[in-house]
Amino acid sequence: MTRIALITGANKGIGYEIARLLAGQGVTTIVGARDEERGRAAAERLGQPYVRLDVTDEESVAAAAKWIDGEHGRLDILINNAGIAGDLNALVPSTVTAAAIREVYETNVFGVVTVTNAMLPLLRRSESGRIVNMSSELGSLAMAMDREGPLWEANFLPYNSSKSALNMITVCYAKELMDTPIKVNAANPGYCATDLNGHSGHRTAEQGAAIAVRLATLDGDGPTGAYLEDAGSLRW
Ligand code: NAP
Repeated sequence: MTRIALITGANKGIGYEIARLLAGQGVTTIVGARDEERGRAAAERLGQPYVRLDVTDEESVAAAAKWIDGEHGRLDILINNAGIAGDLNALVPSTVTAAAIREVYETNVFGVVTVTNAMLPLLRRSESGRIVNMSSELGSLAMAMDREGPLWEANFLPYNSSKSALNMITVCYAKELMDTPIKVNAANPGYCATDLNGHSGHRTAEQGAAIAVRLATLDGDGPTGAYLEDAGSLRW
C-alpha cells in the first residue's frame, strides 16, 4: 500500500528536499505550505499533491486534515518541518522581548502541537505512523553548556529554547503513544545552507533532509522518543 506523508513548510529548503526524497521512494508526499503559489509550484515540480497549511492558523490546519481525510482516509508520515529563526543577531537574552520569543514559538512550538493533534486521528489509522519533528542541535541543553563545543557562542534565546521545547514535546508525544505503532522522534539536520540562515550553513538541504527521511521510514523496531542526526543520538 502506498504510504501517505505530509510535510509542513515543504515549498523550499530542507522540507522540499524531504518531500523530493520521500516521493522518490514512492511515498505520496503532500506538500504543505502556507503560500498557495509557492506551495503549488513546489508540488508541481515534484508531481505531488499540495495542501495549504499555515501551522499558526488552526483553521487552515483543520481544513488540511479534513482534506487529507477525504482524499486518503489516513496519514502514515507527518514531518513537522516548518520553522522560523527570528532575528538571530538581535536576540541575546538581555535584549530579547517576549513578543520576539512568542513569534518564534507560534511556529516552532505551538504550530507543531496544533498540526500534530489535528493529524493524530489520521496517523492512528496507519499501521505504522511516524512523526518527525525537525529540531536542531541548538535545542540541546548539554551542547549549549559545553564551553569547548561549537555551539557555545550561538546563544539565541527564542530559537534555541523553541527547539529545546520541541525536544520535550517530542518525548511527551512518544510517551503517550508508546503503546501504539506510532513513533515520534526529533531530527537534527545539521547546519544547512537555506534561507533560514542566509545560506551560511556548510551542509546542503538534501543532506539535512536525510535524517528526517530515515526517521519517517523507520521499521517497527526503530526508536521512539529519540533525538537523532546522521551520526546517531545527540545529547539532550
Ligand atoms: P527555510 O528554507 O527557511 O524553510 C522554512 C519553511 O518553513 C518554508 O517552507 C516556510 O514557508 C515554512 N514556514 C515558516 N513558517 C510557516 C508557517 N507558519 N506555516 C507553514 N510553513 C511555514 O528553513 P530550513 O532551513 O529548510 O528549515 C526547516 C526546518 O529545519 C526548520 O524547522 C528549522 O528550524 C530546522 N533546522 C534548520 C537548520 C539549518 O541549518 N537550515 C538547522 C537545524 C534545524 P515560506 O516559504 O512561506 O516562508
